[in-house]
Amino acid sequence: MLTKLKTEVARRALSARQRFGFSLDSPCDVYELISKYGLALRFTNISTLDGLYLNDGLLGSINISALRPSGHQHFTAAHELGHFLLGHGAHLDEKIEDMESNSTEETMADTFARHLLMPKRAVLSGFRSLGMTPADANPEQYYAVASWLGVGYTTLIQHTRWTLGLIDSAQLHQLTLKSPQQIKRRQVPSVSWTGRKELWPLAGWWNGANVHLQVGDVVTGLVSPSLDHFDIGDGCAIATSVGQISATVFGSATVNLNIAKTDYVGMYQYRYLEEPIDA
Ligand SMILES: [Zn+2]
Repeated sequence: MLTKLKTEVARRALSARQRFGFSLDSPCDVYELISKYGLALRFTNISTLDGLYLNDGLLGSINISALRPSGHQHFTAAHELGHFLLGHGAHLDEKIEDMESNSTEETMADTFARHLLMPKRAVLSGFRSLGMTPADANPEQYYAVASWLGVGYTTLIQHTRWTLGLIDSAQLHQLTLKSPQQIKRRQVPSVSWTGRKELWPLAGWWNGANVHLQVGDVVTGLVSPSLDHFDIGDGCAIATSVGQISATVFGSATVNLNIAKTDYVGMYQYRYLEEPIDA
């Protein structure tokens, strides 16, 4: 019964993507998707909640805690969009993405989020761009595909094992021996990796991606980063100011970089507005 329901929810997630032109083999920008559905999206500084979905009649609003890692915020946004599209009532989510969800609606919202952000075709396409399959990729490659899809490293590994069944438990164990912090430290040793600072390992196969980052995040792979928005570090660029820019990446690709203030609180549509200069 639950399996049948999950299959239906997965189908709903894929059709939500397709309705607004997100192809099944590329990342889905969940913040843009929420806006296209006409829902209000707000980032809050409530530390005790991952997110919440409010339904006040016709349309609802989604609130996401700004005090979570980027991949976690995307997953929460997709989970709350799931509550909306699956016709659930208002939900207050203290801690989502536990494999042991306590209600059918929570399980379904998680299933929706996994298939929205990580459809099988997109996961395989990410690894294929690296010349790999999920079964033979190393932790750094999992980290790169997770960043590209906008999800956490562990979230992608768990999904590849338990939802898609593309790796076995021994491979899962091997991958989880490495932490995202260790991977970041190894790729860019010159940065002190504290807090929720993210590493965005941009490469040619990211062409067309829409990346949501924040001031303090570290980016690799940029060809002559804009000095208006980045400090140049040792083998990397560090985001320094808010704005939306198009950037060239090694491997002749172009990506859109949306840079927010650190821990931005407020409405999504104002998240990347550069602060007005005082006269
Ligand atoms: Zn929920």
